[in-house]
Amino acid sequence: VSSAPTTDTAGAASSQEGTQAAVTPPESDIPVHAPYLLIGGGTASFYAFKAIKANDPRAKVLVISEENHLPYMRPPLSKDLWFQTDPEKVEKLEYHPTQNFSVFHASNAYYVDPKKLPHLDKGGVGILHGRRVIYLDAMAKKVHLDDGSEITYDKCLIATGGRPKNLKVVENAGEEIAKRTILFRTIDDFQRLYKVCQETKTVTVVGGGFLGSELAVALGNSGLLNGIKVNQIFPESGVLAKVLPEYLSKWTTRRVEAENVNVIPNQSIETVSYENGQVALGLSSGITLKTDYIVVAVGLEPNTELAKTSGLEIDDVHGGYRVNAEMEARSNIWVAGDASCFYDIQLGRRRVEHYNHARVSGQLAGENMTGAAKPYTYQSSFWSDLGPKVAFEAIGMVDSSLPTVAVFAKSSDDTSAVKAVKDPESSEAVMTAPDEYDKGVVFYMKDKLVVGVLLWNLPYRLTTARQILKDGAENEDLSEVAKLFRIHQT
Ligand code: FAD
Ligand code: NAD
Repeated sequence: VSSAPTTDTAGAASSQEGTQAAVTPPESDIPVHAPYLLIGGGTASFYAFKAIKANDPRAKVLVISEENHLPYMRPPLSKDLWFQTDPEKVEKLEYHPTQNFSVFHASNAYYVDPKKLPHLDKGGVGILHGRRVIYLDAMAKKVHLDDGSEITYDKCLIATGGRPKNLKVVENAGEEIAKRTILFRTIDDFQRLYKVCQETKTVTVVGGGFLGSELAVALGNSGLLNGIKVNQIFPESGVLAKVLPEYLSKWTTRRVEAENVNVIPNQSIETVSYENGQVALGLSSGITLKTDYIVVAVGLEPNTELAKTSGLEIDDVHGGYRVNAEMEARSNIWVAGDASCFYDIQLGRRRVEHYNHARVSGQLAGENMTGAAKPYTYQSSFWSDLGPKVAFEAIGMVDSSLPTVAVFAKSSDDTSAVKAVKDPESSEAVMTAPDEYDKGVVFYMKDKLVVGVLLWNLPYRLTTARQILKDGAENEDLSEVAKLFRIHQT
């Protein structure tokens, strides 16, 4: 995908001053007005423009995207692409082992040339690549781009996602460390890390959240092929500790270790220095760990720079732009995806950093931009895979600070009694705890109601989970409720 060259139209107009001859004005690559203007070209934006086109087939939609790629899905960048054995497919960003599934949401043919957009009777979706919106004037309904151009709009969507956080100790460690540090979010980051893994001996992933854990497993797999050693360091006692109950987090950590990852929990990085061509990490235990590269995966900072100029509100607790249940922030401005802190009528104010939320909220914002005025009622789900033994899906509020009740069964023993374990934080009676968590369901509780459901190696049960959240199942019923998930059946 090429980014169109910049044309300074204001400059072109002034150079014609005083000239009598009729001059055809140079064709600008930037429309001066867009009925629908979408800021950001990620998943939320993609589903918003699909919804806009479905509801207003002649809509003219202009997307401003900082990235020089067509809209794409990020999930395969930390999972499937690392298990792709055909290097040509990796090159083409095709992630499925047998099908030609691509990370791109749609091919180039789907989009129109942005400069032609104003003249297309049937409308279309045009993307301006490699441009950043730096200022949004909500009263004038106008955006300013980083190349100095301005575009007015009728309806605007902010779908700017977020950028990876870094650690101060890494940021302040100088140029040599910066050269050996990867913050991971984009196709370009994937391609860089993929190359690094073919040329290096040790990579250390910092962070035990979704990205850190998925990448550690992916690199562990790559390490088996390329002979690299993979470390994963994080401050919690187990992986995904902010999401999983402690016992499950610890059990999952052992599964990550089994994927060729040297997991170092309960450690923070206190010093970072450059020593003999390597990164030396001084850990809180006093140990120094030397590594060729570090991948820092310590969370996401929502991209909310436009808040000040546009007079939009940022949520103090969750971050992100505050929007109502219809994803609207102000008149004619909607926000969707990772950057939105929305009002969930059922579960309260939230911000969600997952793919299906970007899809669902983008679609809802798109529909509402065409006049639907629908509230957020459909709970989005999310998923993760950590090697061959751990795949889960979840819905609602899935936060390890909440009390949980869980029911598990061993996949090898279909006749075994279902066992239940409870988080020690919970006040209810404890049932026998199994030592293996092959498959099961975890209920997250708030005020005695189920507010989140995690399906552990239990595919195709999301509809049941969604219904349980909707019905508001109570604490007392849960062993009965768990039966609805047919845990013994695959
Ligand atoms: P983004 O995808 O971040 O898109 C926002 C876009 O806006 C970016 O291209 C950005 O450059 C651009 N932008 C920002 N500011 C401006 C500006 N001022 N002007 C112009 N453009 C701008 N979720 C899951 O549920 N399951 C998974 O398995 C999963 N795997 C993931 C794997 C990886 C490696 C990553 C990084 C994320 C993963 N996620 C997963 C999370 C999911 O991808 C995100 O929640 C989703 O991408 C959010 O979509 P978005 O459109 O809100 O933001
Ligand atoms: P995260 O919020 O999932 O995890 C943050 C982790 O950073 C913490 O668990 C902790 O281990 C680590 N951390 C925080 N402060 C630290 C410190 N001072 N030192 C060391 N470690 C520290 O964020 P992430 O894992 O970086 O993921 C980035 C984004 O990508 C998130 O929005 C995430 O939801 C998304 N993502 C989602 C999926 C999925 O849904 N399957 C997969 C990959 C990425």
